[in-house]
Amino acid sequence: MTKGKLFVISGPSGAGKGTICKEVLDEERNIRMSVSMTTRMPRKGEIDKVHYHFVDQQSFEQLIEDGGFMEYANVYGNFYGTPKKNVMEWLEQGIDVILEIDVQGALQVKKSYPEGVFIFILPPSIEELKNRIKSRGSETEETMARRLGTALSEISSIDQYDYRVINEELDVAINRVRAIITAEQCKLNDIEVDNIVSRYKEEL
Ligand code: 5GP
Repeated sequence: MTKGKLFVISGPSGAGKGTICKEVLDEERNIRMSVSMTTRMPRKGEIDKVHYHFVDQQSFEQLIEDGGFMEYANVYGNFYGTPKKNVMEWLEQGIDVILEIDVQGALQVKKSYPEGVFIFILPPSIEELKNRIKSRGSETEETMARRLGTALSEISSIDQYDYRVINEELDVAINRVRAIITAEQCKLNDIEVDNIVSRYKEEL
């Protein structure tokens, strides 16, 4: 059986990657999103095991010790990580998987799983990023400066990614991410080539 594809999507907070991933998931059938584990508190409306597995520091550290994470990172003072088990099982079953994770995590995945497809979502400009973060209404001067600093350092790692999508208009950005996924799903690799040829030969 052909393994599933792993899509890793990152980009600065405010670039719109969460919305894009949600839309893509709603329409694609054979693709799942990994639910991350985090030590941060749930925000209003967030549901445990749906948006994140919300855990305490001790449980998070235990999973690190057990080697249960595909990657993990400290983002804005909280830990976030991708539990390995489901992702690996889905890929083995031929199901494609999306990870929406920060750049630190993506670079770890790139080392352990270089066959992943790495997509970076960019805001159209820093000015627009500022506006989007401001419109969430929860930022102080200090956290805004911190988020912008992190955004710039994340953008500096863009050379590690395979694709970049600029989220100027949401619909266009969603379609581009969908197009990347479709193109990657149609890409041939050596195993598939052998399978295809032998299947057609058998049918002859
Ligand atoms: P938020 O707290 O706003 O949901 O997420 C903050 C940041 O953490 C976002 O950039 C998000 O992509 C990232 N993030 C979410 N889950 C994971 C994860 O499992 N691993 C890593 N490395 N980053 C994550």
